[in-house]
Amino acid sequence: MITSAFIGRTVLAVFAHPDDESLSCGGTLARLADDGLRVVVVTASHGERGGTDGPVHDPALGDIRAREMRAAAEALGIAGLIIGDHPDGELRWAHVGELHAELTALIRHHQPAAVITFGADGLYWHADHIGVYERTLMAVQVSGAEPPPLYHVTMQRGVMPEIVNAAKRRGWMPPQKGFWSLIPESFGIAAEPPTLTVDVGDWVPRKMRALLCHKSQLGEQHPFEFLPPADARRLLGCEYFHRANIPTTAPPLLEQLCT
Ligand SMILES: [Zn+2]
Repeated sequence: MITSAFIGRTVLAVFAHPDDESLSCGGTLARLADDGLRVVVVTASHGERGGTDGPVHDPALGDIRAREMRAAAEALGIAGLIIGDHPDGELRWAHVGELHAELTALIRHHQPAAVITFGADGLYWHADHIGVYERTLMAVQVSGAEPPPLYHVTMQRGVMPEIVNAAKRRGWMPPQKGFWSLIPESFGIAAEPPTLTVDVGDWVPRKMRALLCHKSQLGEQHPFEFLPPADARRLLGCEYFHRANIPTTAPPLLEQLCT
């Protein structure tokens, strides 16, 4: 249970592309919003290279993904959404100074109670995710004498293959393309062990609703659409984080959600 001192405070969650937020920590964001915090989500890019036909620059796709992101934000109760214009696919080395300046300005403006972003493994060694991790870590480190606690999202190794298997049992057939072009086993493969587990079982229906808003990323059919509610709760009902080792006397936030 969150203490009342946090009500009305901002949580800043920084990601690379529309859809990162829902899969990695959509339940936690919805739970924080329900607990009275203002959740502000930043995606550094529009995800304009995230087409199922391969990584080509497609501004029209960026517009579609921005619309999908707005719908997902509504499903999760997100109060503020910033969809950046930094180049999808190049976030680790392009616009480094610009993104750093934006993030430091956001931290200065919102004085967030906590910041959430990727860990050093970028969930599955995605260079854009690692770039956003680097920029966000740096922005928090230089944010003053009492930086907000910084939490890195992580996924349990083996969860994505289990999701795929549960969907297959319900008749899902892997499409030729469209499942994020990813290997399910790659999720969490290089993750540090989590130090915080947040129970979001009651928020799984909203997390699923948000995930399914990102239709352009789901391809013709997606295992999430085949996941029975009981399996969804079992496989997506906990979210995992580890806390960055940055000295601060700012009170911990996500620790209050852990049982
Ligand atoms: Zn991403």
